[in-house]
Amino acid sequence: MTVQGLFSSKSAAAAQISAVPRFAIVGRGFSGMMMAIAMMKSVHRPFHLQLFDPNSSVSGGQALSSARTATILNTRVRDLSVSVGDTDDFNDWLCSNTEFRAAVPAAIPGFRQIFVPKDIFSDYVYQRFSEALAARKDITVQVCSEPVVAIRRSHGNRFLLESASPTNPLFDTVVLATGYGLPDVEEPQQELSPIRAQRLIARPHIVLLGSGIRVVDKLLQLRDAGYAGQVTILSRRGLLPQSHTPNSADPVFPADALPSNLPDILRSIRTACREAEEEGRSWQSVMNGLRKHARSLWRALPAHQKHQFNRHLRAIYDSHRNRLPEAIYARLQGELASGNTVLRRGLIGRQGMSGLFFRPAGSGTDEIVHAERILDCRCRGPQLNSPLLASLLSEGLALPDELALGLAVDQRGQPLLEDGSTVDGLFAVGPLGQGSLPDIDLVPEIVSQAYAVGEHLAERFYPQMKAV
Ligand SMILES: Cc1cc2nc3c(=O)[nH]c(=O)nc-3n(C[C@H](O)[C@H](O)[C@H](O)COP(=O)(O)OP(=O)(O)OC[C@H]3O[C@@H](n4cnc5c(N)ncnc54)[C@H](O)[C@@H]3O)c2cc1C
Repeated sequence: MTVQGLFSSKSAAAAQISAVPRFAIVGRGFSGMMMAIAMMKSVHRPFHLQLFDPNSSVSGGQALSSARTATILNTRVRDLSVSVGDTDDFNDWLCSNTEFRAAVPAAIPGFRQIFVPKDIFSDYVYQRFSEALAARKDITVQVCSEPVVAIRRSHGNRFLLESASPTNPLFDTVVLATGYGLPDVEEPQQELSPIRAQRLIARPHIVLLGSGIRVVDKLLQLRDAGYAGQVTILSRRGLLPQSHTPNSADPVFPADALPSNLPDILRSIRTACREAEEEGRSWQSVMNGLRKHARSLWRALPAHQKHQFNRHLRAIYDSHRNRLPEAIYARLQGELASGNTVLRRGLIGRQGMSGLFFRPAGSGTDEIVHAERILDCRCRGPQLNSPLLASLLSEGLALPDELALGLAVDQRGQPLLEDGSTVDGLFAVGPLGQGSLPDIDLVPEIVSQAYAVGEHLAERFYPQMKAV
């Protein structure tokens, strides 16, 4: 859907915005769109909202809507509601979607336990955004198709956003929702020479880098598109995502007396998994339960153990929390069993003309893996050296977290400074806070955080509303 018809015109906006709080959201991925929904539903008085992203379209989240239809979200419907306090909202939306009901009749009357394609979730988010907007005649929303390159304090507690437009107003509140950063620009790296590679390989060969959900998505997309050649997955740790259970795997985790150091935490997770399985439940239920305590466990860990976790255990944690729907897991296992897809563990080096330097785990020497294409499916973290984040750091508006995985933030995403204080009016929602808040890259956690920010804004700008 186009943007122009949906939003107030710039001149109408200009007349109105001077008198009301001005909010900016930088990034229109899922976090940015969710933040906009939460603001519209939580701040019940007029405001002006400006949404920045170089991608000119407005959808339920850029990454999710641009995914191919065939790719399935790895979170169940029951955990994907964008309505706070109504966990059935997505399920209800699916039930009222005639087309979807016709396509998936077996799941009627409810879809809570199933997994759906990403573009359906994106449609749902977009529809909830449109409805929230349609219900608010008192606000103005402006969409800007440009990246923000810097943020500075100006006129006291307000923020100046630098983008291609010289006319950005000053903002009272800025929410950073830049997730994994801007899409890659042309990198000046050496191009592979497919013709040269073809001379060196016996049959078509594609290399995928990484081992997370993105690799599995890419592999299955290639196969769905008819690619029958060899695929090699190269990964540092070689840990592919585990499987979901066929049933709901309701969370279990012994919450009393949680340990506060890494070895004891690991021991208690192993014990909980063993006990769950002895009682006929699954380790997946324990992982689901563990996620509910992940933040307090993380906060209590000493810094050196956070580093240890990051170096040695994060990949294991990720492969157990980001799980594949059973059918997709079975396809992946089938691929590996056929030998047409091979997983290799080791260090990935630089790219040459016809392949990639690779040092297999346990070997002291590099080899070259020849391929016609190399597709990097590794998940980049937030880019602290991007102009925008670098400007925040140099202005003293934010600090990296202890592991420099993102920004140091509190539960609501407010940047934390050296003395423990927060920066008023500035928020970083979603994966930007992943070094401070475990699982903040996942939909349920982003939804809760966005509403927490929305409620905070309502109280800050219209405190009298609290009593209503
Ligand atoms: C393919 C895929 C599948 C997923 N599946 C699941 C799932 O099943 N379950 C689950 O819970 N989670 C899932 N996730 C994870 C979750 O949805 C993501 O963590 C979430 O999409 C993050 O969204 P985001 O908006 O924070 O970041 P992003 O998606 O990275 O979006 C950031 C946006 O910010 C913009 N931007 C960046 N820098 C600037 C700048 N300087 N100025 C202006 N704009 C900027 C970018 O252009 C981009 O549009 C999935 C994610 C992906 C990508």
